[in-house]
This record gives sequence, structure tokens and C-alpha cells, in this order.
Amino acid sequence: MEHPFAITLDVGSSLVNQTGSWRTSRPVYLDRLPPCNHACPAGENIQGWLFHAESGDYETAWRELSKDNPLPAVMGRVCYHPCETACNRGQLDAAVGINSVERFLGDEAIKRGWRFAPPETESGKRVLVVGAGPSGLSAAYHLRRMGHRVAIHDAGPAAGGMMRFGIPKYRLPREVLDAEVARILDLGVELRLNAKVDNILEAVKAGGFDAAFLAVGAHIAKRAYIPAGAAAKILDAVQVLRSMEGEEKPLLGRRVVVYGGGNTALDVARTAKRLGATEALIVYRRTRERMPAHDFEVEEALEEGVLMKWLSTIKRMDEGTITVEKMVLDASGFPQPTGEFETLEADSLVLALGQDVDLSLLEGVPGLEIANGVVKVGPNMMTGYAGIFAGGDMVPSERTVTVGVGHGKKAARHIDAWLRGAAYAPAERYELASFDKLNAWYYADAPKTIRPVLELARRTSTFEEVQHGLDETNALYEARRCLSCGNCFECDNCYGVCPDNAVIKLGAGERFRFNYDYCKGCGVCAQECPCGAIAMVPEEF
Ligand SMILES: Cc1cc2nc3c(=O)[nH]c(=O)nc-3n(C[C@H](O)[C@H](O)[C@H](O)COP(=O)(O)OP(=O)(O)OC[C@H]3O[C@@H](n4cnc5c(N)ncnc54)[C@H](O)[C@@H]3O)c2cc1C
Ligand code: SF4
Ligand code: SF4
Ligand code: SF4
Repeated sequence: MEHPFAITLDVGSSLVNQTGSWRTSRPVYLDRLPPCNHACPAGENIQGWLFHAESGDYETAWRELSKDNPLPAVMGRVCYHPCETACNRGQLDAAVGINSVERFLGDEAIKRGWRFAPPETESGKRVLVVGAGPSGLSAAYHLRRMGHRVAIHDAGPAAGGMMRFGIPKYRLPREVLDAEVARILDLGVELRLNAKVDNILEAVKAGGFDAAFLAVGAHIAKRAYIPAGAAAKILDAVQVLRSMEGEEKPLLGRRVVVYGGGNTALDVARTAKRLGATEALIVYRRTRERMPAHDFEVEEALEEGVLMKWLSTIKRMDEGTITVEKMVLDASGFPQPTGEFETLEADSLVLALGQDVDLSLLEGVPGLEIANGVVKVGPNMMTGYAGIFAGGDMVPSERTVTVGVGHGKKAARHIDAWLRGAAYAPAERYELASFDKLNAWYYADAPKTIRPVLELARRTSTFEEVQHGLDETNALYEARRCLSCGNCFECDNCYGVCPDNAVIKLGAGERFRFNYDYCKGCGVCAQECPCGAIAMVPEEF
């Protein structure tokens, strides 16, 4: 297949006029690890699925993608896409819109009703998954595809964890989540709702399970001591966002103050606006640069009219007012009080100060190591108790949906090996296809597609989705912007430029081979391979 955005040279031509007469090194074809794949916490073979998407074979692309991640339509909306931050194309013009192509494939799959292939064999083993958030769902999916019977027990009334009870609808429509959850359950995964597990060892024993994967998330809101008058209305962010899923919407009043600087604070403030608050103000003790929230979410909130008060802490709340103290950052960037106070109007105060993990189901389990309120796991995701694995927000790591999905996959592989009395050996890691390995001048300019967004007036009055998806033309264009870093995409350049006809073409999809009887080791092929798929290695004499 021809790559549309790379220049293909004519056979026999060469940009570098150089031939070797004495071979001190020889060219070898290799596969390098693309930086996007390396950066994806779910371990997706991004380059692999983009390759299929480039040719318009979306179902194969989706199947390749969902080998690692069963939630592409969700992830194409909520993932913070570290893959794009790492993408080599970012050093050329702008990163490939991996996240938007992922969403396009996920949406196509829902639209066209594509299903996962059922397991080929049954292992006869049973695994208990506690928690139907992204991590538990991912583990259940992978374990089921490996042929194990899986039961998920969740304390809540619906599956999804924080994808349903945290992330607002205007970022993740619930029909998208429902469709992707249903497809996992269709594999034969059993889901028990309103089924809180109070004691993990008893639950494993009672159900006759052979292993367990825990992914209970972090749902207990952190509190700050704020002296308050009797009529002061103080709520916590997870409680407010959770109640958005129920019949009764939270009563926040006209002037809502949100305390915190993370993404959750922004979600609450933006939700308050949509519920009709005339003023939604975020109070944060540091500066915008030091806010843990992602910059694009801060921008979106500001566009919607959310107000920010930096360098301030809340000292007290009374009926209709809060008192804030102005802060200054010291030399180490830590906020220090100034003794200057201000009174602001506020009908309600929502605390968005982070969440702790409820570890009560692990009480009495021997061998566990708990530090900073999270459970330690080994490189195989197993806790200190044999057969009990854990992942997602309840273990030490970054707290995102994608990390949770990655943990679920990794744990499933290790659980599968453990159930067979073996150890899972990860695949061999190739050298990274960093930007300096590419010959970037071969690629034509192709600016990134901008995703359409909902008009501002509707953004502040409805819960309609803010970011729109790409249409097929744009998705195809975006997939074709991929440089195929480190892996041959059969552009024929090496075949064309070799002055000694030492490159043998093996046919479509089969790539090439060197005929070392003819190769003089001039290195022209390596210099003219756009994507760095040829290396010159010293000859051994
Ligand atoms: C407001 C908000 C917005 C966010 N936005 C994003 C975003 O845009 N992108 C992103 O990547 N991440 C985001 N995150 C973070 C992300 O949602 C979490 O990191 C992720 O959901 C963690 O997945 P998990 O599977 O570990 O746990 P959770 O999603 O929290 O799921 C845990 C599940 O376990 C169940 N459970 C708990 N205790 C028990 C028990 N004892 N027995 C049975 N079931 C139990 C719960 O009911 C829940 O369904 C956001 C978080 C919040 C709070
Ligand atoms: S899950 Fe996130 S990091 Fe992985 S490919 Fe998708 S957008 Fe990129
Ligand atoms: S150009 Fe393609 S292969 Fe290279 S890092 Fe970006 S998405 Fe990955
Ligand atoms: S190895 Fe040859 S055919 Fe493959 S991308 Fe490089 S130059 Fe093109």
C-alpha cells in the first residue's frame, strides 16, 4: 500500500550520491518501537491500527486496537492522550490526532455493531473481579478472552465506576459507555450490581474463585477543616457529580464556589454552570501554572465563563458567604498565608480536594503492604497475598481511565499465567524509534485536523457533548499523517535507490530482504528510508 504523505523515489534514483566499495557495515531491516505505542498506558499498538485505518479497513483497525483496549469510544473521548505528546509528528508540524481516530473507530464499531470474538477454549478457572470501573472491566474482558469465567461484583447500581459517576455527560455520553460495557458483557462476563464486597477472602471462598482482581477505585472524598456557620452548605465533588446520575439533581444555588485545582474541580464548576448557576468560581491556593488540571480543560472552563481565583485558601463559610485568605508562593513554590482576607458571596461550597481509597474489604488479609492509603502490588500486579491482584486508582500510580485499563490488561496476563502455574514473560522490547532515527524531509506537510466543538451557547445550557468526532474523510486523512516511525511501510525507497540491486522485494505485506552477495554496504538505503526501519551494523571480520 502506498503511503500518501511520503515521497517515493523512482527506482535507480538516489538523493545521496554515495556508493561503498569495501563493506565495513551491512544494512539490516528492523522493527523499532514507535514512541506513541510506548507512551500509551493501555499498551495499544497504535501504529498497527493506524496502518489499517489508513487503507480504510476500519474493522481490522478496530480489532487491532481492541486487542489491548476494549473501550476505544470511551478512550477516544476521555484519555489525556500521552501518545500524542510522544508522537514524532509533533516535531514536524503537529502530532497525529491519534485520540480522534481512536474515537472514530470506537464510534464506527458501535454504529456497525461489531462484536468481540468469543474465547476459543474454556480454561475451567473462575476469577472474581471487584469493581466495574475501567480497570475491572478491562481485566474481565482480557480474562474472558483467555477462556476464564469471570464474575464482576460492583457496589453501585450501574457499571462504569468513575466513567459514569464522575466524568460528566458533556464529555462522555452515557450511551457510548453503555454500548462498550454491553459488548464486554456479551462475551459471557457475569455482572452483579449492588453487590458490595465487604471481605475479599470470604467472597473468594464463598464463590469458589481461583483468583481475584480488585479495582475498587478511590471514592472517599478528602475533607478540609473549614469552620462553618449552621446554614453553610458544604458538599463534596464526587457526591455532586454522582448525584447527576440520579433523579434529583444537586441544589447548588446561584453562586457556586469550588475548592481545588484538579480536573474534578473543573468538572464540578462546568456542571454547576450547566445547572443554571450564574457564577461558578474555582478557588485554588496556587497559580494556574501549578494547577494539576490539564490546560485544555482550564481553557474550556474559562470559555464557558467559569471564574478562577488563584492564590487563595478558604478560611470559613457562613450563610451566603465565604472568607478567603490571599496566599503568596515561597521560594520552593509552596503557598504561604498573608493575613489578608476577603469575603465573597457563595450559596454553596463544593470541595474537590481528591479522593481516598476505601480499603475496608482488605481488613485482616495477611501479607498486604499499604502505604499512603493505596495497596502495593508487584510488577505482576499481585498484592502481598497470593492470588489477589489489584489495579487502577487503588494502587500507587497516576489516576486515569487509561492507566486503569492498562492495569487490567497487565493483571489479566499475569493472572492467566498464575492460574496455569507459570510466569508471564512480556514481549521483547525493541529500541525506540525516536525522531532522530527518521528522515523527516521525506514527509509532505499535512496540518492536523481540528476537532469541531459544540457552540458556546449550548455548552453552558445543556449537557450535550462538547467535543465532536471526525467524519470519515478527516479520520482517514488524520490516520495517513502517521509517519510509521521505525517500521517499514513499503514505500519502496530502499528498493529504488540501491545502486547494486541488492534489495529484493518480497511482495505486498512481505516487505524486503537484502542480497548481501551484491550489497557493498554504501548505506544509501538506510539514509533514504523515511521511517528509520534500516540500520547499518558493523561487519564482523
Ligand atoms: C470527576 C472525575 C473526572 C475524571 N475525568 C477523567 C478523564 O477525563 N480522563 C481520565 O483518564 N480519567 C479521569 N478521571 C479519573 C478516572 O475516572 C479514574 O482514574 C478511573 O475511573 C479509575 O478506574 P478504577 O477502575 O480504578 O476505579 P473506578 O472507576 O473508581 O471504579 C471502581 C468501581 O468499584 C466499585 N466498588 C468500590 N468498592 C467496592 C466494593 N467494596 N465492592 C464492590 N465494588 C466496589 C465502585 O462502585 C466502582 O464502580 C476522572 C475522575 C473523576 C473523579
Ligand atoms: S488510550 Fe490514550 S494514550 Fe492510548 S492510544 Fe488512545 S488516546 Fe493514546
Ligand atoms: S507518527 Fe505515527 S508511528 Fe510515529 S509516533 Fe506518531 S502516531 Fe506513532
Ligand atoms: S525499509 Fe525500505 S520500503 Fe520500508 S519504509 Fe524504509 S525505505 Fe521504505
